[in-house]
Amino acid sequence: MAGTGDSDDTWSRLLPDAGLHVNFNPYMSDIVSPAKRSAMMSGIRAKDTKPELRVRKALFAAGFRYRLHIKKMPGCPDIVLSKYRAAIFVHGCFWHQHAGCKLSKIPASRVEFWKAKLEGNSARDSRAVRDILSLGWRVLIVWECHLRAQRDMSTLQKELSEWINGGPEFSQLEST
Ligand SMILES: [Zn+2]
Repeated sequence: MAGTGDSDDTWSRLLPDAGLHVNFNPYMSDIVSPAKRSAMMSGIRAKDTKPELRVRKALFAAGFRYRLHIKKMPGCPDIVLSKYRAAIFVHGCFWHQHAGCKLSKIPASRVEFWKAKLEGNSARDSRAVRDILSLGWRVLIVWECHLRAQRDMSTLQKELSEWINGGPEFSQLEST
């Protein structure tokens, strides 16, 4: 593949736009139609989001091979490395309510609606992590804020490789 530099520009060129954006602005929800909003909401578990593609790209370039969205595993992890008994989730900070992260702030309007929705997501996430760990696998969560802050592909590769090759049973890459 031509042009595998580290710049964000390169990333943008290499990665197809996934259509459903994780940086969809929840503050806009009150001015869109219910149908449109429903379509946006269904993007919570959208496959192939841009941050996820970025992680996959880094792993692939580092020589790792993986499977995607294994429905049989708890929580249907985004990336699964069976050889390492390792599952990776790439989480949007808002939708998955990254604790203490500025991207996770709940909108001031329709607070109850958002709280119920997002607390449901968080509960599901915690359950998935617990269940995967109980199977004797390891879990890494890569947060959207980290991917935004960590623009250097080789550093991201190094972080991922280190965890895969013997990191703790549960770890997170985050930049809050
Ligand atoms: Zn975050």
